[in-house]
Amino acid sequence: MLDADFFRRWMTATAASVSREAERLTALDSPIGDADHGSNLQRGFAAVTATLEKEAPDTPGAVLTLAGRQLISTVGGASGPLYGTLLRRTGKALGDAGEVSEDQFAEALRAGVDAVMTLGGATPGDKTMIDALVPAVDALGDGFTAARAAAEEGALATTPLQARKGRASYLGERSIGHQDPGATSSSLLIAGLVEAAGE
Ligand code: ADP
Ligand code: MG
Ligand code: MG
Repeated sequence: MLDADFFRRWMTATAASVSREAERLTALDSPIGDADHGSNLQRGFAAVTATLEKEAPDTPGAVLTLAGRQLISTVGGASGPLYGTLLRRTGKALGDAGEVSEDQFAEALRAGVDAVMTLGGATPGDKTMIDALVPAVDALGDGFTAARAAAEEGALATTPLQARKGRASYLGERSIGHQDPGATSSSLLIAGLVEAAGE
């Protein structure tokens, strides 16, 4: 079973990896964006860990709902509302249980990813974070390590795609040949699950 501490560790691990990889995420956002993805998420997840420490929510749903709300209010770019919606919707789907099973979490994350697709209008193949998140959710039934591998593969597979959503889509065919920054940060988010589980 996964408790509030697990979800807190997930957010802390993600904040650390996003901070470690911030320069790389921003570099990926440079040829096909506005070179702010790393700094956007570094600022956002730092605020998430600070607010989780301060408010100490005590259920999985409350941890993710608060984290999502914080991302929405801290990150100005496209990725803030999208990641914020992902976490908020996932948290809402977890309800107010003190512990949730891995299957319940997989189902909730599916609802979160669906909400991101509804909000942003992207579907798999559009060269966005969805290209890492959908395969990760599909693989989650096989465990966190399988989800991490699927997300990493999904992020790498964005390179040959032409962007159809977000800032990168303004470049048309010139977006081809670059890995999507949001899919890359999504693979960090999913990798955080493995860390949180201590696997
Ligand atoms: P901005 O583009 O506003 O500067 P960021 O650089 O923080 O925001 O985030 C860019 C990332 O957001 C992209 O790499 C992409 O993965 C993701 N993204 C942008 N628009 C969408 C969308 N409509 N649906 C899903 N993901 C999106
Ligand atoms: Mg950007
Ligand atoms: Mg921006």
